[in-house]
Amino acid sequence: MRELIVTGLSAKYGLAVALTDVSLAVRTGETVGLLGRNGAGKTTLLKSIINNPELSASGEVTVDGTSLRKVPTYRVARRGVAWVPDNRRIFTALSVEENLHIARSRRAAPDQLERVLASVPLVEKLLKRRGFELSGGEQQAVTIARALMSAPDFLLLDEPTEGLSPLIVEQLQESIARLPALFDLGILVTEQNFRFVTALADRVHILETGSAVWTGTPDELVARPDLINRHLSVG
Ligand code: ATP
Repeated sequence: MRELIVTGLSAKYGLAVALTDVSLAVRTGETVGLLGRNGAGKTTLLKSIINNPELSASGEVTVDGTSLRKVPTYRVARRGVAWVPDNRRIFTALSVEENLHIARSRRAAPDQLERVLASVPLVEKLLKRRGFELSGGEQQAVTIARALMSAPDFLLLDEPTEGLSPLIVEQLQESIARLPALFDLGILVTEQNFRFVTALADRVHILETGSAVWTGTPDELVARPDLINRHLSVG
């Protein structure tokens, strides 16, 4: 088992504070959800973990006890942490196959592509298509498959359901649910969609104006309509 631990993480964009003293842990094999409304700081938390240069962060982030704080963003993937941004960022002029190939790392197994295609089935029939030909749901599936090509221990998924139809969300949920066991990885997933996260997560944290205001299991959250109304959009 490997462990990603965030301790007392705070972050600012220039002088604007976006995250204050957040702590959480993700272990391989489990999924942790991060819920909160627009602007609550969910994206900022993921960007802070990977040392995105847009912000200045303080606090500690470790993988198995080794700090990530001084690791430049482009090298974080080599430490086994893969970021799936909310805007998807597919190379639109390249085919899906090329998009996946580029992301392959030395950590990947010889049969990594086959394993990835088996776990995100939607992607197999898209291999020859160019990025610009994909729908939003297809792009999201390809972005997740691309992150898996680097054989990560931890997957940071930023609002994967944003802008997708309910049917696609359901397919995506099935794929994501399989990943921790299939690849022995941990997932930290941010969402505004409370149903999606409670279906997938082992634990949930709620963020509000940059602070973690509640932590518990999905069952505990479902039993708290007051929290759901106060902090979340019910999707
Ligand atoms: P969303 O659902 O909109 O992605 P979020 O919970 O991910 O919301 P963040 O994007 O982390 O929220 O934003 C947290 C705060 O930081 C907000 O007040 C936002 O306006 C601010 N912020 C985000 N990105 C930047 C930036 N690049 N420069 C300045 N402020 C930013």
